[in-house]
Amino acid sequence: MAILSNRLERIISFVDRGAKVADVGCDHGFVPIELIRRGIVEQAAALDVNREPLEKAKENASKAGLSDRISFYLSNGLQKLPEGKADTVIIAGMGGILMARILAEAPKNVMAGMKSFILAPQSEYEHFRHYLADNGFEITDEALIKEDGKFYPIIKTSCSGTAYSYEKEIYFRYGRILPERSDTVLRECLLNDILNIGKLLAIPSLPGERRMELEETKKEINELLDHHFTAGA
Ligand code: SAM
Repeated sequence: MAILSNRLERIISFVDRGAKVADVGCDHGFVPIELIRRGIVEQAAALDVNREPLEKAKENASKAGLSDRISFYLSNGLQKLPEGKADTVIIAGMGGILMARILAEAPKNVMAGMKSFILAPQSEYEHFRHYLADNGFEITDEALIKEDGKFYPIIKTSCSGTAYSYEKEIYFRYGRILPERSDTVLRECLLNDILNIGKLLAIPSLPGERRMELEETKKEINELLDHHFTAGA
């Protein structure tokens, strides 16, 4: 039995009981294995663009006695997933630009059957949240996990196809749900980001344009903190 990181545990907690899951970029395969082992789902699809991780996932599934419950696909994104095989997609542990591209390039017939997307980008958050908003991926739940000093968002969405926007750009960095919940991990992340911006601003040779950009971001983070995290907020 694998001991999962808090990040993978939270991803699992976002999966609806009885869902048909496709884990894109499955790597070790721990997520589909644990979902089945815990009885949350009956079967799953595990996809990876690289042969080596896919073989590792197969081996782990075999050790867990679950080879007959997981289908494996050597696949760039969702390209090789058969229609109707899944209603829930997990994409985790990749950059936001790559994840947006995987969603954009997914076959339309495969996407039509999807009810839920559990998405955990590791960088390029603004780009990714803009993609979600422009393409009508409505965020239904969200968590921020701190692991080894880094912060990882986990976003659950459904896709209505109706585009939306936020009134402030800063919400494309941190989302809307966690500030509204005055989430304590988000508060820590915001304070950490302010600290890091401060370090960059202390560099005398920092180009003027970058300096202005960072000062604006710092101001917006402080406003977010004032608005959502002051006593009684
Ligand atoms: N999802 C796991 C997690 O969150 O711990 C593993 C993340 S691992 C850092 C990224 C995995 O995504 C690798 O196994 C890599 O081969 C796979 N990957 C990268 N680009 C991909 C793509 N376009 N389609 C499918 N898998 C991809």
